[in-house]
Amino acid sequence: MPLDDYRAKRDFSVSPEPRGGQPARRRKRRTRFFCVQKHLATQLHYDLRLEHDGVLLSWAVPRGPSLDPQTRRLAMQVEDHPLEYGDFEGIIPDGYGAGVVLLWDRGTWEPEVDDVDAALRRGDLKLRLDGYKLKGSWALVRTKGTAGRGRDAGDPSRAWLLIKHRDDWSSGELDIATFAPLSVKSEADFADILEQQLPAVWTSHPGAQSAGSLASLAKIVKKVEQYQREPNRG
Ligand code: MN
Repeated sequence: MPLDDYRAKRDFSVSPEPRGGQPARRRKRRTRFFCVQKHLATQLHYDLRLEHDGVLLSWAVPRGPSLDPQTRRLAMQVEDHPLEYGDFEGIIPDGYGAGVVLLWDRGTWEPEVDDVDAALRRGDLKLRLDGYKLKGSWALVRTKGTAGRGRDAGDPSRAWLLIKHRDDWSSGELDIATFAPLSVKSEADFADILEQQLPAVWTSHPGAQSAGSLASLAKIVKKVEQYQREPNRG
């Protein structure tokens, strides 16, 4: 079922992430929602999410998107997320993805192909983004080979490359992650989110009050401090 993987990985008594309802069946239309969530977890990464068929297809991009067509950024495909996730910004106190999520960009996307499902199967999706920070034409290209081990051994590789096409929105010089590091939702950085949302998540999620989650929260606070000293190390 859609979102089973998403829900199986999470304990919603600990995490304020949305559980998500039934994936909405939407009218076929060209313009769909997209977002990028900057996620300070074990490693800093940027989660690119594209609305398709009532869910958000998701890729974790360790180094973040690059506007330079010469720079291909690894994008690991992860489980589909509920549409409601697209607005999420906050603290995941413990468990899967423990850390801080900042809504780094959002807007709409449009496929540059007729059949998105066929493009995904083929491993070559050309698309246009219209966000605050990311715009213009991009490609997601799956790397050759298959997933090596585990339950999905033999399936197509989960490793894709995110590539900017040359256009008015590409740039060889501007490092967009450094130039525009803050939330498009709240203009917050990780420390602001921690300060604003920690008390609420603590009281609203009983699971966050266990000893294990307290230790996890302490680690998250350290991570945010480290990020403030060295923003590009994560
Ligand atoms: Mn993530």
